[in-house]
Amino acid sequence: MRVGADTFTTRVDIAVRGVQMDAPVRRPDGAGPSDDGHVLVDGANAALPRNSNSPYQLRDGRIFLGELDTGLSLQLVKRPQFYELVTADGVPYEKIARLHGADVLATTVVQTCIRYAEDQRCRFCTIEESLRSGATIAAKTPAQLAEVAQAAVALDGVRQMVMTTGTTAGPDRGARNLVRCVRAVLAAVPGLPIQVQVEPPRDLSVLTELHDAGATAIGIHVESLDDEVRRRWMPGKGSVPMAEYETAWDEAVRVFGSNRVSTYLLVGLGEDPDELVAGASRLINRGVYPFVVPLRPMAGTLARRDGVGAPPIELVRYVTERVAALLRDAGMIGADQQAGCAACGACGVLSAAGA
Ligand code: SF4
Repeated sequence: MRVGADTFTTRVDIAVRGVQMDAPVRRPDGAGPSDDGHVLVDGANAALPRNSNSPYQLRDGRIFLGELDTGLSLQLVKRPQFYELVTADGVPYEKIARLHGADVLATTVVQTCIRYAEDQRCRFCTIEESLRSGATIAAKTPAQLAEVAQAAVALDGVRQMVMTTGTTAGPDRGARNLVRCVRAVLAAVPGLPIQVQVEPPRDLSVLTELHDAGATAIGIHVESLDDEVRRRWMPGKGSVPMAEYETAWDEAVRVFGSNRVSTYLLVGLGEDPDELVAGASRLINRGVYPFVVPLRPMAGTLARRDGVGAPPIELVRYVTERVAALLRDAGMIGADQQAGCAACGACGVLSAAGA
C-alpha cells in the first residue's frame, strides 16, 4: 500500500527516530542492521527503534507527535506462543528461530562467522553477540528448525521464513547447510515460502540446489555498491570482489527468476546518494530487488562503539523515494518475493512507498 506524502515523511521519521513504546517482540542483537521493536504500522510489518527520547508516542493504538495524531496506527506484535515451547533435547524454541514482524519466522542457522575478528567483521553486525549473551545457540539442526517452523505456523500464523547464516570457510560459504535446512522445514510444513540468505558462493551450483530444495527466494546481500565503503565498513566481506556478487546475482536470477533475488543496500554508510540510486537502478535491471534500509547501529556493534548514529532523515527519504519509484516503474514489488526481507518490508520504508 502506498501512503500519502505527509504520511510517508512520518513513516521515514519513525523508522529512524523510533517511537516511545515497549514492544514485547524485539530483535536486540544478531545478524543485520537494526535493533528494533516489531509492530504493525497501518497493518504492515515495521521494525522501529524503541526510543524513550523519540518525539513520537504510542497512545491508544495510534502514533502521536506531541498532541498531533499522525494518522498512523500502531499495533504491537504479541509475544508468540511458540516462544513458550522447548525441544525434546531441552532447547527453547526462542533460541532456534524468532518472530520478525507479525508473520515472519527468522533464524540464523549458523551463528558464527569466519569474518568476526574485530578487523574483519561488518561494523553493523553483532551475529556472535547474541550467541555470547545466551540468546541463541551456535548451530541449529534441520530437525530443530522443522519442529519450530511447524509450531510457529500452527500456533502463531507465521506465513514465511527467512534463513540466514554466518559465513563458513568452505567454497559454498555456508549455503549447502541451508539446503538441508530448507528440505527439512518443507517436509514438516509443505508450501511454506522460505528465503535463504547467503554470501556469493564460489561454487554456484549450490544456488540450483537451494532452489531445488524448495527455497522460494534468495538474498545475496552486498550492503553497499561502493568498493571504498565496502572496505571501510566490511573489511572481510568487502574483500569479495563485486564481480563475484554480480555473477551470483545473475545466476540466482536465472535459477529463481526475476524479483526472487534481493540484496540489502544500507543508507548511512557514507555512499553518495545519487550513486546509490544509480546502483539500485542497475540491480533492478538485473532482476534483483534492492532492499534499501536505514542503518540504525545496534548495541554491541563496532559502529555504535565508535559513535556512529542513524543517517539523516532527509537522506533516507530521498533514497527510498527514488528507489521505490524505480521499483514501481519496473513492476517489482517486495511482496511478490513471497519470502524474505523484501517481502516482509519491516526494516525499510520501501513498502510504504508502494514498492
Ligand atoms: S525485513 Fe528481514 S530482518 Fe527485518 S524484520 Fe523483516 S525479515 Fe526480519
